[in-house]
Amino acid sequence: MITGVTTTDTIKPTPTNVKVLKESVVRHLVPKAPLNLHTDMHKPAGSQTTTSDSGILVEVQSDHQEEKARHERKRSSPESHGTQLSAKKPRESDDETLKKMTDACKTILECIGEDPDREGLQKTPTRWAKALLFMTQGYCENCKEVTNGAVFSEDHNEMVLVRNIDIHSLCEHHMVPFTGKIHIGYIPNGKVIGLSKLARIAEVFARRLQVQERLTRQVAEAIVETVEPLGVMVAMECSHMCMVMRGVEKVGASTFTYSARGCFESDSGKRTEFFNIIANNGMRSC
Ligand SMILES: [Zn+2]
Repeated sequence: MITGVTTTDTIKPTPTNVKVLKESVVRHLVPKAPLNLHTDMHKPAGSQTTTSDSGILVEVQSDHQEEKARHERKRSSPESHGTQLSAKKPRESDDETLKKMTDACKTILECIGEDPDREGLQKTPTRWAKALLFMTQGYCENCKEVTNGAVFSEDHNEMVLVRNIDIHSLCEHHMVPFTGKIHIGYIPNGKVIGLSKLARIAEVFARRLQVQERLTRQVAEAIVETVEPLGVMVAMECSHMCMVMRGVEKVGASTFTYSARGCFESDSGKRTEFFNIIANNGMRSC
């Protein structure tokens, strides 16, 4: 079974593994609504996932030690989907890639019962190939390049937060979009990064096939590696087309994930401060 954030009812919430987030956060983010807990079969350690199906915000927690151990195994695994700041996958030549993708798209059109030669579709395979290459161009980028020269020494020790950054990515299970907002905060430790670079880092990872949980974590880890701050907090709220247009077809559902590092991981007060700041502008608006 293909699973992901769209799957429901596989994990039963219990009093021990589900707790309602601090009332202040809930009040700001999702005023009222019924509980609807979604499963998160591939939830990475270090990030907590909450899903509001026009509903209440809940936090799913597994055993902390077990989660931490799983996280360490994953980080050291060759299959790890870590940030890989230097990772950059070369693509075949443009012509060769385009031809392969165009041919594949013609096949797909035939399989769904279309005629790839009819007037309206003649250029569609090429357009689709170019669009998909654009939407996955993060494979050809790395954070070192996009942040190069934009990290500065600065004696600022309070939270820096850029909120409501538009994010567009493709779900790796269905290759259909999920879109929403990402909020990135960090507490510097002698170095700051150009603000626009936070959005660029998010794009490097968003323009790949993703799951929202991994994307959230990768952005947090990339900022840790780039700025070496005292702490990083990344939160995302997205609507997944694979959930809206197919499967359970829940149009109003959105998925919330966050990833905390450093002092945000150890200090719930810092996390609350972060949530209060982003809530003032309304996470529900995305
Ligand atoms: Zn999907």
